[in-house]
Amino acid sequence: MITDTAMKQRISSLKKVTMSNTPISFEPVSGSISPRFAGVPTFMRLPNIELNHPDIAKVDIGLVGVPWDAGTTNRPGARHGPRQLRDLSTMIRAVHPYTGVNPFKLVNCADLGDCPVNPADIQDCLTRITDFYSEMHNKNIVPLTGGGDHLVSLPILRGIKRKDPLSMIHIDAHTDLFDEYFGGSKFTHGTPFRRAIEEGLLDPTRVVQIGIRGTMYDGEDIEWGRQNGVHIITIDEVYETGLDAIMHKAREIVGDSPTYVSFDIDAIDPSYAPGTGTPEIGGFTSYEAQRIVRKLAGLNLIGADLVEVSPPFDPTGGTGWVGVSIMFELLCVLATATAKTA
Ligand code: MN
Ligand code: MN
Repeated sequence: MITDTAMKQRISSLKKVTMSNTPISFEPVSGSISPRFAGVPTFMRLPNIELNHPDIAKVDIGLVGVPWDAGTTNRPGARHGPRQLRDLSTMIRAVHPYTGVNPFKLVNCADLGDCPVNPADIQDCLTRITDFYSEMHNKNIVPLTGGGDHLVSLPILRGIKRKDPLSMIHIDAHTDLFDEYFGGSKFTHGTPFRRAIEEGLLDPTRVVQIGIRGTMYDGEDIEWGRQNGVHIITIDEVYETGLDAIMHKAREIVGDSPTYVSFDIDAIDPSYAPGTGTPEIGGFTSYEAQRIVRKLAGLNLIGADLVEVSPPFDPTGGTGWVGVSIMFELLCVLATATAKTA
């Protein structure tokens, strides 16, 4: 538990946010001290430390919002995701109920605010997002992102690019491996991983996609993916083989290589998470989604995102709540991995 002294310090730092000499507590404000519905919402009630903040060098994991949905081909609204996710994330407590992990005790986590975006220009926005994540990467900050539509993963992968292509565990109803939309549009939320593989950001033979389903245009995405070595695991295969066995296989494929995790909320069944642009029935329960992320513990995880929560289609906030709960699961496995390498 956080000490009273540290919490008093944190509360006093909230009152004097402009004073750079005030010591920062990287612990969330406890709901037993200040009620969880009170205050300006940051991700999980963490301090807001932007990239130009004097204490940025102390941050190990940065939670970032990308309020952008210009890649959406159908029902929009994911641009409003980060604000809703932040609001609902204030309900999260600190300790994981199954593993006992408290990510905030393992590493310094902070809300880095929203990445700068341009809702009117896709290429300019891709550059802005890439620059932001590249700066985080140069500062050795591991990113955990709340989207935004799924196109945001492409500039994130560009920003955190390393010498060798990354591995990826991708949980989604869709492959997002399409070539183009509308006669030549190469940058949509249905194309990010085709581009990322073409650009050498991902090694397709170490990309695992889990939960794929739904009606198709023509199956060209799946065909291209399999030809290039992507491991595409349909929802039917998950239920026929068993979730734990599938996750065991996924872990074997990525091994100990640096691995990014991308979680599209539409992987989860619309009965749990209807507030998204392209829902598909026959998906994971919210518990199965939690279990998938828990099974990533111990991998060499270097970043993650949770995308496609669309508040205009989520009037009860239920989808946003599932979304931030998955973000907490992701944070726990990321913090464990980050603490190991720190
Ligand atoms: Mn997707
Ligand atoms: Mn999807």
